Amino acid sequence: MRWLRGGAVDRARYADMRRALSRPERLGAAVGAACLVSAVWYGPALVVVVLVGTATMAVGTVLHRRSQNPEHVTALTFGVLELDLVAAVLLTGGAASPLLPLLVVPVLAQAVCFRPQVLVAAVGTIAALLTPAVLFAPALPPAPEAPPVLHLTVFASLVVSVGLVGSHLASADLQSRDEAVADPMTGLLNRLTLSSRFAEAQRLAQGTGQCIGVVMCDVDHFKQVNDTHGHDRGDHVLVELADRLRSSLRSTDVAYRVGGEEFVLLLPGRDIDDAALVAERVRQAVAATPVAGLPITVSAGVTSTRGATATLSEVLREADRALYAAKAAGRNRVLTPDVADAMAATRPQPGAPAVLPG
Ligand code: GH3
Ligand code: MG
Ligand code: MG
Repeated sequence: MRWLRGGAVDRARYADMRRALSRPERLGAAVGAACLVSAVWYGPALVVVVLVGTATMAVGTVLHRRSQNPEHVTALTFGVLELDLVAAVLLTGGAASPLLPLLVVPVLAQAVCFRPQVLVAAVGTIAALLTPAVLFAPALPPAPEAPPVLHLTVFASLVVSVGLVGSHLASADLQSRDEAVADPMTGLLNRLTLSSRFAEAQRLAQGTGQCIGVVMCDVDHFKQVNDTHGHDRGDHVLVELADRLRSSLRSTDVAYRVGGEEFVLLLPGRDIDDAALVAERVRQAVAATPVAGLPITVSAGVTSTRGATATLSEVLREADRALYAAKAAGRNRVLTPDVADAMAATRPQPGAPAVLPG
């Protein structure tokens, strides 16, 4: 069964796609409606086909919820639905049946949910089932000719099904792209995006010779917030803090969430003094009023780079060094590496006032 299940990525993708197609009965409804309409010309056997299809989907949905291997249930459900549809095709003229195009629907759903091997197996099964239908069609009682309205109904159900699958796929894709660049909790951009935006800012700065300011920001004593008020309240603090960061920055200065309670501000066109002023403004904006009802402060380490002289890791290491010194100096303050070095040389006392360069 490994060919069906695949690896961890295949299973994660299956779960995502199954969620995206979480209302498969809508696809079934489109196909079922076309089969029901054909009952007018081909007799009540088509109603039985619809009932079998509906029962299959209902049982499949219940078993899917309970099964340890839900992908097996889905594959089996699609298999039975294909058999059901092949029966409908046989009852309505075999290879000449107006219902033949409806076999696209379960194949499309399988292509979305499963690995290519499963799709090949599904198409192979349909071909194997339909070949006898084509071969023995002359032996079947002649089916009445389908009126244009039935062709139209089949066409409409195909349009609805393809449209549904396409729109579900598009929204699943949009969601995964969103998750790839942004942190879902705070909505801030993530570490991966910081790397690409930093490289982009460096390319621009190479031409203009401008500086790129970088601020590493960390919430003070955040573990205590979680320990005292609970993890959920901690999450609220992070969400509100992200809002405060966003609203205290200009549009070209962007905040990234790079760790649990660590944020980086990327400030293109700002030298270190300018960047330190931005960081100080952010620090004051956080400390000025409670965040999610709690008195929260942040410490920040500031640095800047000119052109493409340093890698992101080097720049962040430098900012982190200044941040570490800000923490050691009593927190709720902004430091640059130079000031941090000077303070280390003179061994400052904890609780010293905030130090700004320049
Ligand atoms: P310091 O002032 O030295 O930075 O102290 P701190 O307590 O903030 O630092 P520490 O790194 O010890 O603790 C960070 C805490 O942040 C630990 C972790 O449980 C918490 N944390 C990380 N990510 C999240 C999150 O997404 N939500 C919540 N609520 N807490 C988080
Ligand atoms: Mg912290
Ligand atoms: Mg931290």
